Amino acid sequence: MKLDILIGMGVGVFAFLQVMGYNMLPIGLLLVGAYLFWTYVLSRQVLKNGNGVSITTTAINFDDIGGQSVAKKELQEALDFLLYSDRMKALGIRPLKGILLSGPTGTGKTLLAKAAAKYTDSAFLSVSGSEFVEMYAGVGAERVRGLFRRAREMVRKEKKTSAIIFIDEMDILGAKRGSNVSHHEYDQTLNQLLVEMDGLKSDQDAHILVMGATNRLEALDSALLRPGRFDRQVKVDLPDKEGRIAILQIHTNNKPLAKTVNLEDIAHETFGFSGAHLESVTNEAAIFALREEASEITEHHLHEAVEKVMLGEKLDRKPSAEELRRIAIHESGHAMLAEKFRPNSVAQISIRSRGNALGYVRHYPKDDLYLYTQAMLEEQIMVALAGALAEEELLGTKSTGAMGDYEQALNLVEKLLLAGMSSLGVTDVSRLSAEQRQPVTRVILKELEERTMESIKENKDVLLRITEILADQETLSGDTLRKYIQPVA
Ligand code: ATP
Repeated sequence: MKLDILIGMGVGVFAFLQVMGYNMLPIGLLLVGAYLFWTYVLSRQVLKNGNGVSITTTAINFDDIGGQSVAKKELQEALDFLLYSDRMKALGIRPLKGILLSGPTGTGKTLLAKAAAKYTDSAFLSVSGSEFVEMYAGVGAERVRGLFRRAREMVRKEKKTSAIIFIDEMDILGAKRGSNVSHHEYDQTLNQLLVEMDGLKSDQDAHILVMGATNRLEALDSALLRPGRFDRQVKVDLPDKEGRIAILQIHTNNKPLAKTVNLEDIAHETFGFSGAHLESVTNEAAIFALREEASEITEHHLHEAVEKVMLGEKLDRKPSAEELRRIAIHESGHAMLAEKFRPNSVAQISIRSRGNALGYVRHYPKDDLYLYTQAMLEEQIMVALAGALAEEELLGTKSTGAMGDYEQALNLVEKLLLAGMSSLGVTDVSRLSAEQRQPVTRVILKELEERTMESIKENKDVLLRITEILADQETLSGDTLRKYIQPVA
């Protein structure tokens, strides 16, 4: 940025002197020459400094990857093209040039690419899309050329027949052309990748397969997805419960786990976690065990770790006694309504600060649920509203502690609108103006607020009971909470 300002000022001074009658042409030519030479030298340096390519030798098998059975199966089928290329050639099938892995971050895309290299006994080069993007013209394109050159060299050196080039963050290198208005360089780099992929032939001595990974499939240039380029797409989703159990098993294999630990319980609690989250849970659990000088990891360490990965580290914030009581009322409101709608759903309730939260209620997720009815969404909204309304009922006022809850409630209302579950019926919500949406949102929230308040008033005794015990003990397990909560009308 500073350089841009300097160049701008230089051009200004230059133009001013020219207007004043000085002959600036020779100096101008000299400066332009010097600038071009300087960018050339820098770009060479960037190219020389390792090209950003990493060559991994750690062997990963498909068995080292938990869950993802569909992705593994699809990928192995695609890789058989590479393994049995002679048979493919005999049938006139064109070689497979690219496989695109798409899915949320931390789900094991890189692991799958490494396992693919092991499965096919290929040389493996890995690079991130962001490594190609440099400010010096032509460097990105030259890097792409260099990458393919390097893959061929590796095949020769390692006496293999194939290489896999893994490009992570594919959406940075392969974004829709023209989308980076100020950066022509991105487009040149992508063009070069398309040229290289088009040039891959089955009769070459080295078979090169490009594997891309992205979590923004929609951002990719359609040319990349055209048949003959990345024409195999493998979806790598967040793991289901079975997958989570398998991943937890893989990452606890090398750790001393107490016999009493039931990994299914941990998998049950961790709906929505990626493989990377689960790896972190096992690691954090081991750290908790170390802190307690325990020789084994127990279920308690794993629960603590889930909480840490989900909500962040415990903090030493010390709210005043008055604030603590308000936080206790707020969290008790959430927990009471959650137990009313889904008995046994609260895993823990606490008024100890963690991450951004002053207090929290941790719920057991509903078992791998992918569809929600109107009643379920409304109940979730009521649970979100219950914190502030409990404050209002017991203290007469609400507080800023409910801001996150309102955000959550509004997102859920948006879901109701999008799913045609509001008075608007089935409609293209994106075409509605804010003025058209606002009254509908307000009516939904007002009605749900009234229903929530009714329930809070009806169960005021229970609310007061949990508040007192929570303010005293700071953290309650779901089971302890349920002892005080019965019966909620
Ligand atoms: P990103 O999109 O952020 O690059 P990714 O999908 O490529 O992420 P990986 O780098 O493959 O994810 O996974 C990160 C780490 O998470 C792995 O090193 C591993 O420890 C763990 N992990 C992720 N998925 C799995 C899985 N299915 N089985 C076992 N471990 C996994």
